[in-house]
Amino acid sequence: MQSVLPPILNTLQHALEKLPGIGPRSALRIVQALLKRPEWLKEILKTLQEVELSIYPCPQCGFWAEKPQALCTICANPARDVPILCIVKDPVDVLAIEKSQAFQGHYHVLGGVLDPLAGVQEKDLRLRELWQRLRTRSYEEVLIALGTSPEAETTAYYIARQLADWPGKVTRFVSGIPVGSELEYIDPLTLSRSIRERQPISL
Ligand SMILES: [Zn+2]
Repeated sequence: MQSVLPPILNTLQHALEKLPGIGPRSALRIVQALLKRPEWLKEILKTLQEVELSIYPCPQCGFWAEKPQALCTICANPARDVPILCIVKDPVDVLAIEKSQAFQGHYHVLGGVLDPLAGVQEKDLRLRELWQRLRTRSYEEVLIALGTSPEAETTAYYIARQLADWPGKVTRFVSGIPVGSELEYIDPLTLSRSIRERQPISL
């Protein structure tokens, strides 16, 4: 069936469908909302341009920072001096743990988890930066908080094995995260308990 939509709106709908959680129907509803409220369209357009020009990965942890080569607000905060490095998959996981208010150390955003079927290998993750950080900074503990998907589990054990000779503790969550879950869906209270009850990972 030929689409009755003007081609550019078709293109916009398909572009929106690429975003997580947006199917064809919600993409079309967003298109409609943007055309009904031109001020929203302008605001989103302007903000997206600003984001493109001003947001960079923090050179230390990989979270979002506001200038190229500038530290993010977490890495730049001298009050965060607890010598624990928490390894997470994505920036949204940093936000989830921050909401729990139960962690005062630093983060390391891997940018994904090992997933050979999807073609994600060691070199695709920020692992080299991780080993470098652990060599040059005096952390006493690495908390692996990658979620509980099979790929996340594999990655956690891979990291723990690589750190077998590292003098600090390597820990993980043992409670509160249902099997197959991502950190971002866990409520702050549960997450704070998971952090408190973390245990050394056993190989
Ligand atoms: Zn940072």
